[in-house]
Amino acid sequence: MSEKLAGADDLRVAADQLAARLPSNMAPFARIAFNYRWCWTTGGDALFAAIDPWRWAACGRNPVRLLQEVPTSALEEVSTNRELIREAYSLEECIAVESSAPRTVDGFDPDHPVAFLCAEFGVHGSLPIYSGGLGVLAGDLLKAASDAAFPLVGIGLLYWQGYFRQRMDISGWQNEYWVESDAPRLPGARITHDGAPLEIHVPIRGRDVTAHVWRFSIGRTPLFLLDTNVLSNAPIDRWITSRLYAGDRDTRLAQYALLGIGGIRALRAMEIDPALIHLNEGHAALASLELASEQVAEGFTFEEALGRARASTIFTTHTPVPAGNERYSAEEMHRVFSGLDERLATTWSELEGLARVHPGDAEELPGMTCLALRMSEVRNGVSQRHGAVARGIWRPLFGSKSDETVPIGHVTNGVHVSTWMAEPVRSLLTRYLGHDWEQRSLQPELWELLDDVPDEELWAVRCELRRRLVDYVREHATMDRLARGEAPDYVEQAQHAFDPDRLTLGFARRLATYKRLHLFSINLPRALDLLEGPESIQILLAGKAHPSDDEAKRVVQGLFTVRSDSRVGERIAYLHDYDMHMARFLVSGCDVWVNTPRPPLEASGTSGMKAALNGALNLSVLDGWWIEAHDGTNGWGIQGDENLDPHDQDERDARALLDLLEKEVIPLFHDRDENGVPRAWIQRVRSSIRVAAQGFSARRMLADYVDRAYSSG
Ligand SMILES: *Cc1c(COP(=O)(O)O)cnc(C)c1O
Repeated sequence: MSEKLAGADDLRVAADQLAARLPSNMAPFARIAFNYRWCWTTGGDALFAAIDPWRWAACGRNPVRLLQEVPTSALEEVSTNRELIREAYSLEECIAVESSAPRTVDGFDPDHPVAFLCAEFGVHGSLPIYSGGLGVLAGDLLKAASDAAFPLVGIGLLYWQGYFRQRMDISGWQNEYWVESDAPRLPGARITHDGAPLEIHVPIRGRDVTAHVWRFSIGRTPLFLLDTNVLSNAPIDRWITSRLYAGDRDTRLAQYALLGIGGIRALRAMEIDPALIHLNEGHAALASLELASEQVAEGFTFEEALGRARASTIFTTHTPVPAGNERYSAEEMHRVFSGLDERLATTWSELEGLARVHPGDAEELPGMTCLALRMSEVRNGVSQRHGAVARGIWRPLFGSKSDETVPIGHVTNGVHVSTWMAEPVRSLLTRYLGHDWEQRSLQPELWELLDDVPDEELWAVRCELRRRLVDYVREHATMDRLARGEAPDYVEQAQHAFDPDRLTLGFARRLATYKRLHLFSINLPRALDLLEGPESIQILLAGKAHPSDDEAKRVVQGLFTVRSDSRVGERIAYLHDYDMHMARFLVSGCDVWVNTPRPPLEASGTSGMKAALNGALNLSVLDGWWIEAHDGTNGWGIQGDENLDPHDQDERDARALLDLLEKEVIPLFHDRDENGVPRAWIQRVRSSIRVAAQGFSARRMLADYVDRAYSSG
C-alpha cells in the first residue's frame, strides 16, 4: 500500500458495486459519486439533482445514497436522457484527467506528503463531521491542495452520528438531535488489506481499541477517517467515534488519543511516510508524542525522541477562547492515555509538564494546546492579529522577554473559491478576467480587469443571488415555523414576506457567546425601527449553540421574544440547523454580512470572506481577518475597544452598528441612478470581491503554509 493506493481499490470496488444496480450507461455517475471533486465542479450538483430533485435534497445531497435509493423507474428514465448521460461522461473525464496528472509541487516529494490532522472536516453537507469554521477551513485546505496538486493527506475521525442537528422549540430554546449516518452509504470506502478490513490498534483507557480506516477522495487529496464502531470493540469504545465533540470529557479525550496516536498508526499501516505532520488545533497533539514513541522504540532517549518528533511537527492554533483550549486533570489524562509513559520511557510528571505552561506547577491543569505548542517546530495563528494575540497568551510558555520574540507566526485563513463563490459570480469573472482567473488569482494585476465589469451586470448578479436566497428563506422559514408550532399568521408571513429587492443583512455562525449575537437586541426599539418604511431592511439569522452552552442558548431565546412585534414576522427569520449548504445561500445572497465578535477573541472568522467573494459587504468589528481586509472601500469596520468592561463594550459596539446602518449602509444601498443601479454601492461590491478573491482564498492560504511552514519544517 501507499498514499496513492491506500483505499483506492476499495473505492473502485464500491463504485463498481454501486454501478451494478444502475443501467449500464449510468456507470459514470457511480464513479463520480465516490470522489467529492464533483461538489466543486460546475454542473456537479445539477447532474445528481437532475436524477431526482426531491430525493437529492432528502438524502442530504449524498450521491451514493441517491443512487442506492432512487427507484428503478427514475434510473431508467435517466438512462434514456442522452444529454444527461453525455454530461456525466464529460464530468467524469474532466475529473479523471485532473486526477491522473502528477501530484507534485517543486521541492515536495509526492511519496512523502504532509499529513494534516484535524478533529473535524467540512467538505460537504453530506459528510456531517464538522461543527463550524475549523472544520470548513480544513475541508477548504484539502480542496486547495487538490487544486494545486500539492501532496497532502487528511486524517480525521468518522463520527457516525456526526455533529448535532438543531431544532428550535416554540419558546426559542434550542433542541439537539443526532442522525446516524450509515457508513456504507457514505461516499467513502473501508480500507481493506488482503481481503479484510485494515485494522489499527490504540491503547485507550487500558483497553486495546480497534479502529478501521475509511478513505474519502477530495479530488486528488485523500481523507482518511478512523472508525471505532467495530463489533469487536466494547460498546464504550465503539462510542469514541460517535459524535463530534461528544458531551463528556472522557470520550473527548479518547477521541484525541484516537486521532493523534491512531492517526500516526493508520499512516504506518497504509505505508504512508509523511514528510511532516500538521496538527490543525490541539486535539491531535498526541500524534507528535506517537512519533516520539517510535523514536524511543528505535533506541533514542526520551529527550532525543522529543526533539526528532518536534522537527517534523507543525501546529496551528485556531482560537484564544478558553473553551477551544480545554484543560484536563492529570488523572483524566493518565486514565485515558494509558501506557503512554512506558512507550515514551518516561514518567507521567514529565508528560504532564509538556502539557503545562509551567511544567512544574502541579496546580495547573494540562491542556492539549500547550502540548501541541511544545511539540512543534513551527507554530502559527490564523490571522495577523491572532498571531499577535497568541504570542501574548503563550509568552510564559516560551519564557520570552517580550511578545515579539515568542515563536508563533501566522498564516491568515482563506476560503475555497470554487466552493464558496456562487456560480453567477464565477461566470461573470470568467467572462471579464479570463477562464483561468482562479489559477492567476494571486496576481494583483489580474484584478484591475474587474473594473471592466459593468455596474449593471454586477448589480444584476447581486439581485439574482438575493432572489435565490429569498426563495430559499421563504421555504425554510415556513417549514421552521411550522415545525416549532407557531401561530398560522406568523407561518403565513414567512411564505411571501421576504422581499427579493430589500436590503438583506445576514448573521450566521456558531453561537459562541463571544460572537455577541445579542448586540442586535441591546437597543431594541431603535433596531426594530429599521424594519419599517420604504427603506427598511430584512435580517436573516442562523447558527447553532454548543449543546452544553446554556448561556448562548438563552441569547437566542431572548431574540425570539421580538416575535411579538408585528413588524418582525416579515422581516426577520431565524433559520434552523445552519450547515454548509445553508451557508452557501446566505453568504452569497445577503447584501451585508454582519459580525460582532468581542475583540480580540475572533481569531480569524471565515464566513465574512465567503460573503465578500460574492460581493456582499462586511459590516464587522475590526478583529480577526477583517483588520487585514478592511480598507475603507470594501465594507465597514467597527473599531472595537478592548479596554472597556464587557458591558460598556457591548453598548458602544451596538450603538456603532446601528449608527453605521442608519447613516451609511442603508442610504448607500438606496442611492440609485435613473436605471435603479446603486453606483456607489456597486463600487464597494467590486472592491469586496477583489480583496477577498485575491487575498483570502484557500489557494493563498496553502501557498503561505508551503512558504512559512511546510518548507521550513
Ligand atoms: C464558514 C462557516 C463557518 C465559520 O464562520 P465564522 O465566520 O468563522 O464564524 C461556520 N459554519 C459554517 C457552516 C460555515 O460554512
